[in-house]
Order: sequence, then C-alpha cells, then structure tokens
Amino acid sequence: MITVLKFGGTSVGSPEALKRVASIIAGTEGDRIVVASAMSGVTNFLVSLVDNPSQDIEEAKEKFVNKHLSTASQLFEGEAMDAFMSEFNARMKVFEKAVLSDREDPFYRDGVLSQGERFSTLLLTHVLKGIGIDAKALTSEDAGIVAEGHPLNGSANLVKSEAGMTMNVRPLLSMGILPVITGYYGVNSDGKPLTFGRGGSDYAAAVVANAVNADMLEIWTDVDGFMSADPRIIPGAIKIDEMNFGEAAELAYFGAKVLHPRTIEPVRVKHIPLKVRNSFKPEEPGTLIHHLRKPRNDLLRSVAAKTDLSIITISSAEMAYRPAMVSKILDRIAAADTIIYSISTSLSTFAFLVSSNDVKNTLKQLNGIEGYDIERIDVKNNVALICAVGDNLLGKRGVSGDVFSAVKEANANVEMISEGASEVSLNFVVPMGQVIDVVKILHKKYIGERR
Ligand code: ADP
Ligand code: ASP
Ligand code: MG
Repeated sequence: MITVLKFGGTSVGSPEALKRVASIIAGTEGDRIVVASAMSGVTNFLVSLVDNPSQDIEEAKEKFVNKHLSTASQLFEGEAMDAFMSEFNARMKVFEKAVLSDREDPFYRDGVLSQGERFSTLLLTHVLKGIGIDAKALTSEDAGIVAEGHPLNGSANLVKSEAGMTMNVRPLLSMGILPVITGYYGVNSDGKPLTFGRGGSDYAAAVVANAVNADMLEIWTDVDGFMSADPRIIPGAIKIDEMNFGEAAELAYFGAKVLHPRTIEPVRVKHIPLKVRNSFKPEEPGTLIHHLRKPRNDLLRSVAAKTDLSIITISSAEMAYRPAMVSKILDRIAAADTIIYSISTSLSTFAFLVSSNDVKNTLKQLNGIEGYDIERIDVKNNVALICAVGDNLLGKRGVSGDVFSAVKEANANVEMISEGASEVSLNFVVPMGQVIDVVKILHKKYIGERR
C-alpha cells in the first residue's frame, strides 16, 4: 500500500504546523511519499522578487534565509541542526544561482519561483528524522518529475515521470526510506525547472501518485475538505463527503481553488482515489474523490466561479455557412496558446471566453487573418464564469430554469451559456460585479448552509 501525502503552504507554514504534519505522516500506514508546497507566503515573496528587478538581491536573500532559519531554530538543535544546515547551505547555492542567472532566459521566473519548495521539504525532512523516520529530501530533479510546455505553465509528461520515479523514488521505498519531494515544478528537456502554474503542488502530487501507482493520494490543506462553495465567499459552505472525478475536475478547472485545475487527470487515469483533508484537524475524514458515481437527489452539490475572464466576439455575415472560416479562427486561437473556457455561435457571430490575460495575444493572432471578411471583433472584459455541479444535471427537468431564476434574483445578466457540454455541470457567464451575489443566491436556494 503506497500513500502519497501532499501538504500545502499553510500546512508547512510554521514550526507547529510542520510538527503536526510529521505526526500525520507518522500515523499513516504502509509506504509513504510526501510532496510539499513552499511555506505560506514564500512563493508570493519570490514573485515580488522577480517582478521588481531593482530590488536589493542581498536584502531579499537575507529575508528568505531568515524565514527558513528562524523556523529551523525552533525545531532543531545540536547535531540535528548541523545536518540540516549542511543541506540548507547546498540548497542556498542553487537559490543564488537561480536568482543571479540570465533574466532574459524564458525559464528564469520558473527557476526562482520554484525555490520555496526546496526549503520547506528540507525542513519537513529533518522534522521527520527527529521523530525517528528515515526521510530523504528530494528535489523534482532528483525524483525525475519531467515537465514540458511554456514557462510558468508546464504540464507533466506522465510516461517520462513514471520512468524517472521508478528509477529514483521506488528504490527508496524498498529500502524503507520516506521520500519528501518538492511540489510545484518538474524539469524540462533542458534540465531547467518548469512550474505547473500557481497552486501546482496538488498537480505535482497527482503526478507522483500516478508514477508510483499509489493506492491513495491525500491532499492535506487548511479546510475540512472539498466544500459546496469557496468558504471565503460562503462561510456556511457544506463539506462534501464524496464526489466523483468528473465533478471534482470540472469544479477545479472552473475555479475551486482547493485543487489545482489539473490535479484530477493523473489519478483518474489510474483509478487512484484522492482525499482532501484538513491538516489542522486530522480527525476529520475529509472528502473522498473517486471513480464511482452514486446517484443523489440534491439539485446542486457545489458552485465554483472563475473570475477575470473576457468574451471575444467575432462578427461576419453568414459565418455559419463558412466552416473554413471557423476552422481558421480556431487555428489562430491555438497559435496564441489560448485556453477557451466556453464557445457560443450564431449565424454571424462566433463568441468565446478566455482569460483576460490572454486577450492581447489572441487578438494579435486574429488580426492576422487574411482573406476573410471579418466585420468586427468585440471584447467584453470583466466577466466571470459560474460552474454549478450536480449529479445528472441534464437528466433533471427544469434545472436550468431554477438556476437562471437565481441569476435573475441577483439582478445579473447572463452573458453566455454553455449547457449540455458536460453531464455534471452547468456553466454560464455573468458580469464580475455580480458573481458573488449569484453564487450566494444559488448556494442559499439549492444547497443550503451549515448550521
Ligand atoms: P494549500 O496551500 O493547502 O494548497 P490553497 O489555499 O491552495 O491551500 O487551497 C485551499 C483554499 O481553497 C481554502 O482555504 C479555501 O479558501 C479555498 N477554496 C476555494 N473553493 C473551495 C472549495 N470548493 N472547497 C474548499 N476550499 C475551497
Ligand atoms: N508554492 C506554489 C504556489 O504558491 C505551489 C503551491 O502552493 O501549490 O503557487
Ligand atoms: Mg493550493
């Protein structure tokens, strides 16, 4: 039995949190592999470092060192501290090299942003050693997590990562050693760190679980499980006991921050169940996410919202009769490497929903379409997509009517609808200013609140 346990930033964010996490690991039976995020606040600190090139590097380095050493000084002493320091110093050399390397390198930011994980995993490894567990800190390079794709937006190559980890991680398990691996990034074909996007440690842990054919992936965070809505918006949100991969994947993709959008696929393909649990309340069972589908009677189970989106609408007379034109448009969107969150077409318009960050690049590609008489391209910014997940939504009569009556109650306009694309979710676009109200009303009417 192999369990992969992933701990997020707040779960490794203080000496007390690290000790709590170590006892969770100690209490887990069978073979264990740990994946950890950077201590909370550290990745944001690194982002501000790369965003402000004029910042004093020595000062920043000192802050980074102090953050980790003040934690270490509350955890280790004597020989344990010496052992920690020798690995710490080696990793600081890598940190300096990354920060001082060529800023023009497209993977420069990945190299710096991925530094936090190298130090949280080191702290955790030594806390585990302190309680008698033979743990070993591994970077993603050491473990063999292989990434590909664009800077700050990598995806794992599952086949190569499995080969890497079969060689580098599995043998440790048979020697009784517990690997503690950095989350958030893999290594690209040039041997450089490539991050999986913010929050990417969940995905890294799913990749590790896939690679070692784990029996269970546990994502330990700071809430009781996957909830019926973001608890920061709906304080009375209800914890969901069980959900299936499809539901969790849709919600994560459409904005439920508790899981990185791509966490589900690497475990789903191997039927590895996943649990979301609270490292501050290990007695809570959390949420089990698996491949089974249990029919239920509730209309909605969970609502998520993806904000900062834009609708790009292309108008051209009778476009529907010119499929070659639609195909050309899609080619151009692909050339811009833009993710489309929703599409809607009519006789003479083609509208699609993208992240606001991608608008400029997408328009640049579209403006280059020659030989087609495009009449207009309009952009509507400041919209958000709401994803309402329920079991067999389409099979139930009147669901969309109920959902849209809630939207009306929030005095919001539906800007775009995509119904029928997924069996489990109903997605629609509203103005950013009303998204919180719509989520609140939907939740109150169709899910209820914890008392
Ligand atoms: P970690 O550092 O452990 O990865 P994150 O901050 O990335 O933690 O994710 C956990 C947070 O996600 C929670 O504290 C909560 O505010 C937020 N969240 C958003 N949507 C949901 C949801 N549907 N269920 C649970 N938490 C959610
Ligand atoms: N440390 C990274 C971040 O803050 C990855 C993660 O926490 O999952 O985005
Ligand atoms: Mg996270």
